[in-house]
Amino acid sequence: MARAAATKTDSLRAFFGPGGQLQAAQGEGFEFRPGQLEMARAVADALERRRHLLIEAGTGTGKTLAYLLPAVASGRRIVISTGTKNLQEQLIFKDIPLLAAALGRPPRVACVKGRNNYACRQRLDDLETQPALLTIAELETYRRIRAWARESELGDRAELDFLPENSPLWERLNARKEICTAQKCPAFGDCFLTRLRQRAQEADLIVVNHHLFFADLTLKQRDLPGVLPPYEAVVFDEAHELEEVAGQYFGVSISTHQLQELARDAEAWVRLQVIAEGPWLTRVQHAVESGTALLLDLAEEPGRFELKERTRFLEDHQGAYRRLLDNLRAAGNELLAAHDSAPEPETLARRIIDLAERAELLLEGDETGSVLWHERRGRGAILGATPIEVADLLEENLFSRCDTVILTSATLAVAGSFDYLRGRLGLRHGSERSIPSAFDYERQALLYIPDDLPDPREPEFVPQAAEIIAALLAASQGRAFVLFTSHEQMRETYQRLEAKLPFPLLLQGEQPRHLLLERFRATPQAVLFATSSFWQGVDVQGEQLSCVIVHKLPFASPSDPVTAARIRAVNEAGGQAFMEFQVPHAVLALKQGFGRLIRSSRDRGVLALLDGRILRQRYGPIFLESLPRYRRTGRIDEVRAFFAGD
Ligand code: SF4
Repeated sequence: MARAAATKTDSLRAFFGPGGQLQAAQGEGFEFRPGQLEMARAVADALERRRHLLIEAGTGTGKTLAYLLPAVASGRRIVISTGTKNLQEQLIFKDIPLLAAALGRPPRVACVKGRNNYACRQRLDDLETQPALLTIAELETYRRIRAWARESELGDRAELDFLPENSPLWERLNARKEICTAQKCPAFGDCFLTRLRQRAQEADLIVVNHHLFFADLTLKQRDLPGVLPPYEAVVFDEAHELEEVAGQYFGVSISTHQLQELARDAEAWVRLQVIAEGPWLTRVQHAVESGTALLLDLAEEPGRFELKERTRFLEDHQGAYRRLLDNLRAAGNELLAAHDSAPEPETLARRIIDLAERAELLLEGDETGSVLWHERRGRGAILGATPIEVADLLEENLFSRCDTVILTSATLAVAGSFDYLRGRLGLRHGSERSIPSAFDYERQALLYIPDDLPDPREPEFVPQAAEIIAALLAASQGRAFVLFTSHEQMRETYQRLEAKLPFPLLLQGEQPRHLLLERFRATPQAVLFATSSFWQGVDVQGEQLSCVIVHKLPFASPSDPVTAARIRAVNEAGGQAFMEFQVPHAVLALKQGFGRLIRSSRDRGVLALLDGRILRQRYGPIFLESLPRYRRTGRIDEVRAFFAGD
């Protein structure tokens, strides 16, 4: 045993160490990172002993290769789950090819994304026979997609650089489950998803994102066939996001968008003569009208709110609710009774019945353990139920079923402890490790916390903080992110500074997130004003981002119904939600926000936190102990001197 461990250690050093295989593949770009080797050893050990592992790896550790190599070397089929589709692509196009070059042999890899990323051959065929259902502008794009689908190996829309992100035509052509007839489909054998499943069956590594992973897990929880084949271990990168994503998938919802999509698909199948028209179609249309009116009535105000008076709401809207359920059920039954050899009527019927069941569950079912909420988003509305705790669900469906789950991220620990995350995720067993960042934060970064600003809850805070932001941006010459916890304060600060600052200012909401980021990278001295979606998963290396200003400590808003329910649950169980839930949650968010600044050993810059509560309140030391060892100051002249290079 001791000899086997020593051999494993030697082989990891021979890969990651100076003069090793990684250096041979990377050439001049190589830098020996002891933390990377340490992490690879911990991951290899967890895989060998078949135990769970929580491993925080500071920025610059090179954690991706540190888990990829032991995963490949283990000889087991392992799922790697990343935070986003973009990170999946980074693994597929950057990290795995580097690993393959260093090893001299490519691992067998399958990248599995959500179904709507892939083309549906059957829908492409359907439209071929009915080109009149396309507009002239769509016809040309359709022909290009059709030609591409004939040649494409993967059928992944990422290969279509001419297709706009929100293409309505792609909505009609993608392989989403609502319109899929699965084994009964004539194109099943040649379907891109069938081929993808086969590749996943043969792969050593299956690269997914958290959304797809939990979509698969919740299907299997209901004994339905999932997308992923059996696997022996899972590595979650960006594991700090798991509670949030798991909550979405273990929950249930219906939306005006789903209802309207149902009506569109039903009408399209009638036009395509895939399903014969009948009274069922009118019933679907009536159900969609009633359901849409019901949801819009429920979610009148923009934002997400708890549904508190469900019984009363139902009494007041009994008519619309009954029309929704009765019409859906009657349409579903009619389609089931009438369906002949064609599979589409049955697929549509099951979808209609599923919608009715979800509506009934949300408005009349047992709500214990969940929080019911409604949300108005633009012109649409959603009614949903989210589990208050996901710990037991994860324990039952993940940690007790799979013997090796590895959770990694740059932000897992709070003041050196993993207890918060273990508790939230229900991970009771397994080991834990912290790998410090490879960067020299004391030299590369300065943390500025002014001690003379009013408390952020005071009305004078926003105008005075705006003055400090202006002074900081003058010192950094723009090149900054200003991160807010509230849209309102972001807009107010932006308006106060817009005319005063000589730098190009970008405001979240002006453009989609990725375009805003591209503009930020390409615009000298740009300043981006943003809220939560820019606190994490954003990587801007080099001088273009030299200053990150955090307006307030990022406490989750207790006005959000899911956060409020979680706070209540901790208090009702005898705990202290503020210290046990809200503070650690905010600590991880702050670590993420600050993590945007130093992305390489050459980066240098200033972090500013304008919320003086970190210096005055009893929870302040928990935040400060959780951050890397930055040099700290309360003086703006030291910030100026830092940028002047002194
Ligand atoms: S099996 Fe489903 S996704 Fe695949 S081609 Fe047929 S309908 Fe489309």
